[in-house]
Amino acid sequence: EAKLRGAGRCRLSKIGASRRPPPARVRVAVRLRPFVDRTAGTSDPPCVRGIDSCSLEIANWRNHQETLKYQFDAFYGERSTQQDIYTGSVQPILRHLLEGQNASVLAYGPTGAGKTHTMLGSPEQPGVIPRALMDLLQLTREEGTEGRPWALSVTMSYLEIYQEKVLDLLDPASGDLVIREDCRGNILIPGLTQKPITSFADFERHFLPASRNRTVGATRLNQRSSRSHAVLLVKVDQRERLAPFRQREGKLYLIDLAGSEDNRRTGNRGLRLKESGAINTSLFVLGKVVDALNQGLPRVPYRDSKLTRLLQDSLGGSAHSILIANIAPERRFYLDTVSALNFAARSKEVINRPFTNESLQSPVLAPVKLSQKELLGPPEAKRARGPEEEEIGSPEPMAAPASASQKLSPLQKLSSMDPAMLERLLSLDRLLASQGSLGAPLLSTPKRERMVLMKTVEERDLEIERLKMKQKELEAKVLAQKAEDSKEKENHYPTMLRPLSHRTVTVAKPLKRAVVMPLQLIQAQAASPNVEIHILKNKGRKRKLESLDASEPEEKAEDCWELQISPELLAHGRKKILDLLNEGSARDLRSLQRIGPKKAQLIVGWRELHGPFSQVEDLERVEGITGKLMESFLKACGAVWRIWSSPLLP
Ligand code: ADP
Ligand code: MG
Repeated sequence: EAKLRGAGRCRLSKIGASRRPPPARVRVAVRLRPFVDRTAGTSDPPCVRGIDSCSLEIANWRNHQETLKYQFDAFYGERSTQQDIYTGSVQPILRHLLEGQNASVLAYGPTGAGKTHTMLGSPEQPGVIPRALMDLLQLTREEGTEGRPWALSVTMSYLEIYQEKVLDLLDPASGDLVIREDCRGNILIPGLTQKPITSFADFERHFLPASRNRTVGATRLNQRSSRSHAVLLVKVDQRERLAPFRQREGKLYLIDLAGSEDNRRTGNRGLRLKESGAINTSLFVLGKVVDALNQGLPRVPYRDSKLTRLLQDSLGGSAHSILIANIAPERRFYLDTVSALNFAARSKEVINRPFTNESLQSPVLAPVKLSQKELLGPPEAKRARGPEEEEIGSPEPMAAPASASQKLSPLQKLSSMDPAMLERLLSLDRLLASQGSLGAPLLSTPKRERMVLMKTVEERDLEIERLKMKQKELEAKVLAQKAEDSKEKENHYPTMLRPLSHRTVTVAKPLKRAVVMPLQLIQAQAASPNVEIHILKNKGRKRKLESLDASEPEEKAEDCWELQISPELLAHGRKKILDLLNEGSARDLRSLQRIGPKKAQLIVGWRELHGPFSQVEDLERVEGITGKLMESFLKACGAVWRIWSSPLLP
């Protein structure tokens, strides 16, 4: 056959790349690093642990009686060495380079989870890059010696993708470079520096000073957190020494991706926020590309970001790729770990058992807010409660026995959870749901859970609508009654009020205990806890009734209702939306009602062309935003208002 593989580390193909092998999927490995600061970690039990060489489990924030089990091509636990990762997942793909195929190794994960350690490592613990370079240079020396059929040469390039710009780290003055595709589908960057290397010393001579050219910004999460994708390209060129003098080229990309963390937690603002947006766009598209490849979807959205465009001929096709998702065991990484795992996961299953921690034996470490009932296992808790108190909607796992070790979970129940945290989780879910239509099991949250959450939100929206309708109805009745009994107006008012107020109590009951605030405000509040919380009181209703003069038309009364919700809050909401319009990334914009990916792009494009919006209504000037859409959007500004039941709030 055409290929002579197997014997030896590498055998060259006798026939060129005339026949394409079947598309290769992107393999995914997860590496859990050890605790890096044990002293800080004493009250910080791990929230994730390995099960076997391919799977791990993590506590489920939604239900502390469940854990989530993820399956990967490989899982490397906290005791794994640099050598384990290299020989297990990287070395096997290198031989394909000499077959004229491309390969890529990408380190993914939040800042501080070990991407650079995995890729670069330290002199004592060298990572993937030095190991791969050593081996590849050795391999090419062996295969390219005189007398062998092919002459081999190796070159390196080193670039950075920062804010969707391609920068040559070996020639920092060169500015943004363009990515092109030749007629054979090869991706190339005209003008990118290529240095020939024949030894590891050569490599270091170019690589080390260039590394210092990398753009790093200080964020609250990590002083030297990298906000850009560092891309090392190693090219192996082969020329046949005898006729027909064929040529072959194999490219290896070794990529230390930008941190995948959520920028809201790093305290990023302004430029940093914009940066993070761009980074997340690239990572987001990378996720979609990996997903499309691994599912065999007909369209792979390579062109949607610089990173994936660059990798177009090195991800999928005949290329051999491995994504190493780096995660950290500390609980403060929990959310980023979940999102990294969802990014990388091929499959996930929910297991009905609490995530107990071996090192967690006494209730001392349980969240302080847990009540006596919550401290008990589920069956005890059930007994402790009266039967009439039994919760609906929180399924008790039938099979969960209440052994001592299962009483506690390091995760808090929803009701005792930090509202800011809860809000982030919920908006993550909303985001997932909104991306569901793009066919992205990319973040493969089980649909069922997502649907339940979305349904709750929807039901609340509907409830508000229903209440408003009812209110209108009642007002109409009052007006009608008033017109009838206009003569006895003064006397009848109190009697008119009685049934109305009686009815209102039932109608307004959920509102009475509700706290209304814009979503953005909740986030802002997470950042600065002293932001005032506006509580909706039912005094608004009284005012409304007082204003119900016989002369006042019904429509005006409806306006009144809107205003009574809280005018300053409404203004605040509008301001937040305006800020979002002006500062949000395309992805952020999609959190707005009726703004999909296309419209979000249009908005961003308009903004870049015309500068900031001065008011929400300016949105109408964006091409593609119709008056009708605008109208419903403005109405939907109310959609950033959500009603949360009070136990969630401090
Ligand atoms: P990232 O590049 O993802 O921001 P780093 O690679 O800089 O993360 O890792 C953060 C810290 O954790 C560094 O001090 C690093 O040395 C350490 N670290 C990461 N992974 C490991 C590991 N597997 N073993 C030991 N230390 C690690
Ligand atoms: Mg790093």
